[in-house]
Amino acid sequence: CGIIGRVGDGNAIEPLLTGLENLEYRGYDSAGIAVQNGSGINVEKRSGKVQDLKESIRDPLQGEVGIGHTRWSTHGPPTDANAHPHTDESEDVAVVHNGIIENYAALRERLAANGYEFTSDTDTEVIPHLVQYYLDAGFDSETAFRQAIDELEGSYAVTVMVSGEHVLYGARRGSPLVVGMEDGEYFLASDVPAFLEYTDNVVYLEDGDVVIVDEDGVEFTDCEGDPITRTPETVEWDP
Ligand code: GLU
Repeated sequence: CGIIGRVGDGNAIEPLLTGLENLEYRGYDSAGIAVQNGSGINVEKRSGKVQDLKESIRDPLQGEVGIGHTRWSTHGPPTDANAHPHTDESEDVAVVHNGIIENYAALRERLAANGYEFTSDTDTEVIPHLVQYYLDAGFDSETAFRQAIDELEGSYAVTVMVSGEHVLYGARRGSPLVVGMEDGEYFLASDVPAFLEYTDNVVYLEDGDVVIVDEDGVEFTDCEGDPITRTPETVEWDP
């Protein structure tokens, strides 16, 4: 339902939680965030409100790169386990997703047959396992991400993070995804209000776009990996 991702200096927690609060107007049943620092990916997620999520984060979380999600369940009830972000078993890959993966049952069956263990009822969970499957096959992260989304049927806006990398991978098909760009701080979100406190410099992605975002900037590509031009615009905002 709602996606926020952030790369930059300093702690990502505040922009992530602010982003989730800004997306509350869309309606949702669960919320979660994942951040990464030197020791890997930390996930906090649960059913209920963003406020409940905030209260359940006991240890101070720290990380410069992170993703967050407000979920509106389509596959599986609104439980803690079904909340996003979803990860692979070793928490090397974390994913937030809006939309529906139509072929998730076939993908899940194939991945499970290859030993990948599922812990939720969602369609979304096939994505982190699929990325992990391609990482295990020896591909680099960007290629693993591209291979994984190539296999998805249905509608998606996704943002993916891989442990140890200060990078966000994003793609859209049938669900909106926008990029927010400020010097040294970059955002991916399902909707502009998510990050308007931080930047009003925005690129609206088109179906088939794939972006690679790090603290130096945003690489815009098509689904084949060829560079494309997307022009930022300044959005008017009346708080
Ligand atoms: N289909 C996914 C799920 O049920 C994503 C739903 C959404 O867009 O929030 O978890």
